Amino acid sequence: MIALRLPPPPRLPAFATYPIAVALPLLALSLKLLLEPVAESTPFVFFYPAVLVAAYLGGLGPGGLATALSAVLANRVVLPLSGAWASSPKALGATLLFTLMGALLVLASASIRAGYADRRESERRLRLVLETIPQLVLVIAADGEVDYANPQLLAFTGRTSEDLAAARLGDLFHPEERERARAEWNRLLASGAAATAEHRLRSADGSHRWFLISAVPLHALAGDAHWFVSCTDIQAQKESEQAQAEAIAARDVFMSVASHELKTPIASALLQVQHAERLLRRDGAPAEAVCQRLSATAASVARLGGLVEALLDVSRIAMGRLVLERARFDLSGTVRDAAGRHGDAARRAGCELEVAVAPGIAVDGDRLRIEQVLTNLLANALKYGAGAPVRVSLRREGALAILEVADHGIGIAPEDQARIFEQFERAVSARHYGGLGLGLWIARQLVDASGGAIHVESAPGRGATFWVALPAPAEVATPEPARELAG
Ligand code: ADP
Repeated sequence: MIALRLPPPPRLPAFATYPIAVALPLLALSLKLLLEPVAESTPFVFFYPAVLVAAYLGGLGPGGLATALSAVLANRVVLPLSGAWASSPKALGATLLFTLMGALLVLASASIRAGYADRRESERRLRLVLETIPQLVLVIAADGEVDYANPQLLAFTGRTSEDLAAARLGDLFHPEERERARAEWNRLLASGAAATAEHRLRSADGSHRWFLISAVPLHALAGDAHWFVSCTDIQAQKESEQAQAEAIAARDVFMSVASHELKTPIASALLQVQHAERLLRRDGAPAEAVCQRLSATAASVARLGGLVEALLDVSRIAMGRLVLERARFDLSGTVRDAAGRHGDAARRAGCELEVAVAPGIAVDGDRLRIEQVLTNLLANALKYGAGAPVRVSLRREGALAILEVADHGIGIAPEDQARIFEQFERAVSARHYGGLGLGLWIARQLVDASGGAIHVESAPGRGATFWVALPAPAEVATPEPARELAG
């Protein structure tokens, strides 16, 4: 079928179309007068194109004006030229017929014009939608040539429309997914049906983001089918899925570590109690032996209590229920006392415990919680630095109190030094060292909440030094002489 297509009318401002509607009939009249010798018997013919063009360019108003003016010019100027009396019934009839025909032409041509205007408006709206939605949009021909790419896609990929037309679309995909993307594209072409897939696309800065890509066939476009492809950024969703999966995996690991950790002191306490019971049932059980069993039981129960306390702290912190009871206290005395309480544990671990505390350092904070941080660092130093000296020191540096716990134990690899402050993170094998991987995380939360900072310096095999910096007001608490404790 041959379709007659008029070119779309140019967009002219309304005020310009009326002078055109006047000029066109005058032009038609001039042509008619010029060609009078050869076109004598066609008084109206030249005016039809004028009416048609005026209506096409300006719509009903200019079309009507051109028709009326043409009718007057034909009746008053052209007809008298050929000797016709303008007011004769014949001339009036011919003029009326022209006016009717002109009106029909105006209606037809204005409606075609309106069709173009509607189409232009809907195209404008579609473009507006495509340019404001968050999705990246492409229209691709079956041979992979890009017909259209919205500005969001160009901005994301850092390419121009021309680059994109010349580029291979496969380059937009993550190298690991190009093969899969190619296979999906071939399947899409074979089936001709809409489809979706998830892929990582390469951004202008070379990083990749996850997108949900959906392709819908556009059969309406002339010739071959084209594909409307929209890409929705699902990076945040992917990251949260991954975080969830990691959290579930970490929880599973934690459950198995925690149950093992909790079971060990329970089993040990049970053994000691059973042993003590057997000793007591025997006549003449040595009191010393029973006492030993009981104190071993107490140590296991205390360890169990410590583990449960750590778990409770984790849930308190997670639920934002950890309350610090802040008050100014003597940090120097607190450190000395806490270190003193570790004398036995240090002896058991074969560590010489050196304590060097500058006197009179006071801080504002929760004494028990700061003591808990120190206890944790000391317990770690004795655990991971068993058999070698451990040093606890406190000094003032400007407005800060610096608490240091240094050991000469296994040390920590540089790549592990940041992550050991995270929940459940451990840098040792569970087979060699027990622990929940929570102590340092809790310590960091407590120090952060106290307005301080915690840090580690270490090298594998060369021990570790943990230091805690706390804001210390200049005012001196109770000046005391320096005292050193040896474990
Ligand atoms: P836990 O000791 O129960 O595993 P922590 O949170 O106290 O948990 O410590 C996390 C990890 O940091 C430990 O598993 C260990 O790998 C490492 N770590 C902590 N203190 C030391 C230290 N003094 N020397 C070597 N490694 C340490």
